[in-house]
Amino acid sequence: MNCAKADELMMRYMDGTLSEDDAVLLKKHLDTCAACAEDFSLYDEIVTHFSEDTLVSAPEGFEKAVMERIRALPALVARPELDTLLYLVWGAVSVLFGIGLIVFFNRDAIIESLAANPAFARYIDLLPPVSDYVTTVLADVSQTVSAVADSVQAYISSFRYLLLIIFVILAAAQMVIARRFKSDKPAESHSRPMS
Ligand SMILES: [Zn+2]
Repeated sequence: MNCAKADELMMRYMDGTLSEDDAVLLKKHLDTCAACAEDFSLYDEIVTHFSEDTLVSAPEGFEKAVMERIRALPALVARPELDTLLYLVWGAVSVLFGIGLIVFFNRDAIIESLAANPAFARYIDLLPPVSDYVTTVLADVSQTVSAVADSVQAYISSFRYLLLIIFVILAAAQMVIARRFKSDKPAESHSRPMS
């Protein structure tokens, strides 16, 4: 038997799945191979420790020490903290919501200024093969949009204050998150091991 085979049998011994025949073969190899015999005595010690349940209750501070060593390892992937992410997402949502409100309630003025803007008209003209198509589509789209928007606004204008209240709530929630985010920062740096 070679050492690799002996090692495999030792693993089976540790698992408690070593057959009697294999145990005899392993014993033969261990009698002639000092290196494997040394490995075996180490494995056997581990098996004995486990069977005595001495490792079930780890020594005091063992888990903490292990966790600190794990934390000390360089981070493989820098993960943004949840608070940062939440703050950014919430900020983006409330800003977009606010911009959306402003655009929606001022869309007539915006469309007018776009139509009156020669740069915008020239940009449309810069697409000769499709410009007619684009113009038609834009006309269709703007017709559809304003038709929808008119009916939506008729419905929404009575909810204008509700929307503003939602915006205020979004902003307030963002402030709460920002505050918690700030107050979490110093506490966290204290709790980190200084090693
Ligand atoms: Zn060997």
